[in-house]
Amino acid sequence: MAEKVLIIGSGPAGLTAAIYAARADLEPLMIEGFERGGQLMITTDVENYPGFPDGVMGPDLMEQFRKQAERFGTRMVSSNVTRVDFSERPFRAWVDDDEYQADAVIISTGASARWLGIPGEERLRGYGVSACATCDGFFFRDREILVIGGGDSAMEEALFLTKFASKVTVVHRRDEFRASKIMAQRVLDHDKIEVLWDTVPEEVLGDTAVTAVKLRNVKTDEVHEIAAEGFFVAIGHDPNTAIFKGQVDLDEAGYVIADGTRTSVEGVFAGGDVVDKVYRQAITAAGMGCAAALDAERWLEEQEG
Ligand code: NAP
Repeated sequence: MAEKVLIIGSGPAGLTAAIYAARADLEPLMIEGFERGGQLMITTDVENYPGFPDGVMGPDLMEQFRKQAERFGTRMVSSNVTRVDFSERPFRAWVDDDEYQADAVIISTGASARWLGIPGEERLRGYGVSACATCDGFFFRDREILVIGGGDSAMEEALFLTKFASKVTVVHRRDEFRASKIMAQRVLDHDKIEVLWDTVPEEVLGDTAVTAVKLRNVKTDEVHEIAAEGFFVAIGHDPNTAIFKGQVDLDEAGYVIADGTRTSVEGVFAGGDVVDKVYRQAITAAGMGCAAALDAERWLEEQEG
């Protein structure tokens, strides 16, 4: 028998969709993925999620979302979807050889920050290494911070971090920014920001927290260390949409194209970072997940009527 609603992905968008769908008696099935909980699972303190005046740890927040979704009857499958077929209804999704069918689908597989893959980066994630200035910048008051990247994200992160940091150093692998002229100029004009051109990080150093970064000049091959307590990687995000290629319309960067929460396939909805490359916040993702569930509910009602 087909499920009424299948939710793929378990970050703030998916779990909020699950809470709403479950409370609408749609008995949602969620395939939450091996890395359940999404990007908040790799953050520490979350201080900008409303309702938590003292802050909350990212993983704890996601555990609470999950409990709330389960309380109303959401069933969870802790695996990754390996393939989908949205060409006819009921829609189908597979976890390896296990097939799931559903009348409506909500895609909430999120996006993943790109990382450099250098030594120390993963080990010190949450301890000075971050990919989100909005989430973690506040903890770097009067500290020295490095921002890696030369696109608009890196400019935005660097400018935002000047509010807290004593100094921000932007490290870029080429000798000109990819970012829009206006953003780049703001960075170049800022008296708290220094730019290191033609430079790549080789290693993040520190025992329990970031203390310094080893950098290499790509033109001279010269290596030097720079003291820093924050290491912000801003080299882009990738939406987690590989399994949806050819099933729903994606833009050139791979994000799901949606009108509100409606994808190119009627009955398939999407919300959160898999759609949104602008706001990328837990609260906006949760809002989009709520909207996706309400839209799915209305759409299912129309099908019956
Ligand atoms: P992006 O434009 O793809 O820029 C990524 C930057 O990271 C590039 O400068 C790239 O260097 C660098 N990079 C990539 N891989 C690297 C590596 N392994 N090592 C070192 N550096 C690396 O990504 P984005 O900045 O996240 O922006 C994505 C899109 O969102 C863009 O269209 C952007 O305009 C938009 N956006 C707009 C705003 C805004 O308008 N306020 C804010 C954020 C994002 P190279 O330049 O050498 O390739």
